Amino acid sequence: MTTIISALLIKSFQQIIGENNVLIDLPDRIVYECDAETVDQGIPDLVLLPGSTAEVAQVVRLASQHQLKIIPRGAGTGLSGGATPYLGGICLALTRMKKIMEINPQLNMVHVETGITNVEVSKACLRYGLQFPCDPSSQLASTIGGNIAENAGGAHTLKCGTTGAHVNGIVMVNAIGDIVTLGQKFNNPLDLDFLHLVIGSEGTLGIVCEAYLNITAIPQSIETAVVYFDSLEQAAYVVSDIIAHGIIPGALELIDDVTIKATEASFNLGLNTEAEAMLLIELDGSCNRVFTEKTQITEILTQHTIISMQWAKTASDRQNLWKARKSAFASLGRLASHGYVLDGVIPRSKLAIAISLIRQIANKHDLKVANVYHAGDGNLHPCLLFNKSNPNVLNRVLIAAREILLVCLDLGGTLSGEHGIGLEKLWEMNDAFTSDTIDFMQTIKNVFDPRDLFNPGKVLPNPKLCGESRIDNLARFKLSC
Ligand SMILES: Cc1cc2nc3c(=O)[nH]c(=O)nc-3n(C[C@H](O)[C@H](O)[C@H](O)COP(=O)(O)OP(=O)(O)OC[C@H]3O[C@@H](n4cnc5c(N)ncnc54)[C@H](O)[C@@H]3O)c2cc1C
Repeated sequence: MTTIISALLIKSFQQIIGENNVLIDLPDRIVYECDAETVDQGIPDLVLLPGSTAEVAQVVRLASQHQLKIIPRGAGTGLSGGATPYLGGICLALTRMKKIMEINPQLNMVHVETGITNVEVSKACLRYGLQFPCDPSSQLASTIGGNIAENAGGAHTLKCGTTGAHVNGIVMVNAIGDIVTLGQKFNNPLDLDFLHLVIGSEGTLGIVCEAYLNITAIPQSIETAVVYFDSLEQAAYVVSDIIAHGIIPGALELIDDVTIKATEASFNLGLNTEAEAMLLIELDGSCNRVFTEKTQITEILTQHTIISMQWAKTASDRQNLWKARKSAFASLGRLASHGYVLDGVIPRSKLAIAISLIRQIANKHDLKVANVYHAGDGNLHPCLLFNKSNPNVLNRVLIAAREILLVCLDLGGTLSGEHGIGLEKLWEMNDAFTSDTIDFMQTIKNVFDPRDLFNPGKVLPNPKLCGESRIDNLARFKLSC
């Protein structure tokens, strides 16, 4: 798949972005061979680290003239292989672009370059009592560009929505290197909504260089509780019951016993390692509203079988609970060298049945699974734990992963809640959509990027999956072909 990029062209890139920001040597490029989905890999032919929107535009113009593929990249924390250059090409990493151009508390707006991390935006807005409300667990590392490209969610998505709900406008470089603005500085745009076509398009339609984000007030009151159960299914019933009572908590996060034990062993947070499930409930809003909902939830829980319930008494109690949840995936590293994290969505009412089916699939393939769920919005992250050096295990993981995604579809759900399709779920796109629908999506991609230069081979399973040389090096297609 390697593309030969001439010394002259490399020199031209160096003139645009500076010699140090063009990575040519193999050891430097290997760093960019995959994202956090490590099953699939591919070394980029060149890595470019531009420093501004104008530089991105010049780089894309030049690459486009030479028909070079461009794989946009933020921090590489994606979990669907979106930033993995498995077909080679140029990796365009935006991590040097982290300027905050404007914070406008009157308009509740912040204007940033998209290489900035999610958490840095909220930190900068804190002094105005404002925050960027979308909080993926990867927020310390993941970039606003990656969040926009994946339409990332987070623990508080249940109430505040995904990233797309908080983006008013973007400055994007298109496939011929023009700088275009979609949406506007503040308020939702009233023009043709191309902005929300680009949000969630996983780097296939353009390079998002700047964003106008809507920032919101930090809630007046926050209450966080931990509830322990002796079965995951019991916890699932509680989740449905809370919502059925008309309460939309800020967060309803569920983790299973495997994850509780790994997290406690890693961080010593005082979690109950005898429990089969831990539900984290967070309420936020005005003091009155939070007080009422807290009373209601305490009452609802008396009607269910629980081991214990505790409302956080101090800020440090609350921080510990969130540390447990947000470090859950990292803790799983102590159980196995590799984890394959899924991202299916099911209707919330089917949570208990989905949990049981996922366990059956893992047992059938003799795999250990850890479950971390954004339970409130039915977004499941079962993590299949394995050791990649064991010869047959990867096949079992990929087949089990596919079966779990098909269960989500069968239960009336979708393939992805927040991690995107990337290359991880290419196969299942044909299960989720008709060929006419996929062709229609491809037509839209062709309008934005007629020569298929931006993130080729991602999201759309086109051309046909098996027998195509471009996907030969993807482990999952070796299984099926
Ligand atoms: C421990 C852990 C926890 C996670 N928790 C969450 C979570 O709670 N919620 C969630 O939604 N995700 C989560 N993720 C997944 C991941 O962090 C998100 O998908 C995040 O949005 C990716 O951002 P990134 O900067 O790392 O992007 P990358 O991984 O670098 O790229 C992701 C995709 O975006 C494209 N892209 C990146 N930047 C741009 C740009 N500027 N313009 C156009 N396209 C671009 C890439 O081509 C790729 O397709 C988690 C990942 C890990 C490892």
